[in-house]
Amino acid sequence: MKIPFTGGCMCGNVRYECTAEPIVMGNCHCRDCQRATGTAFAAAMLVPLNAVTVTGDVKYFDVIGDSGSIVGRGFCPNCGSRLFSKPPMPGLMGIMAGSLDEPSEFQPGIDVYTASAQPWDCMNPDLPKFDKMPPSSNV
Ligand SMILES: [Zn+2]
Ligand SMILES: [Zn+2]
Repeated sequence: MKIPFTGGCMCGNVRYECTAEPIVMGNCHCRDCQRATGTAFAAAMLVPLNAVTVTGDVKYFDVIGDSGSIVGRGFCPNCGSRLFSKPPMPGLMGIMAGSLDEPSEFQPGIDVYTASAQPWDCMNPDLPKFDKMPPSSNV
């Protein structure tokens, strides 16, 4: 990933820049991500919150995640593009891979919540897979 990297929503009202390397990049196949994205999975990365500068208005919709903690899902209230998430881990934020200006830079290293992956979802067999989250994590 080239640092810093930038991205934004479809209408251009929301823009962001991140000055740190993503901590993890992966595909989440949980039902919440399927509903929120409207498709098979969410391709996203976790980055340090303090490395991201956001301009424009972002609306968050909060849901109770699998861990029992609140997960915020951020989108542009004008065009509806999904951009960010607020995981229940202090100091981190999620960025949706499709919002990147250079989405080909995204390199998923893991598939999570494959227990709810759809039969029409073609996963990369080379990536490590977890039924839910990896045991060391608490998303
Ligand atoms: Zn927008
Ligand atoms: Zn998910």
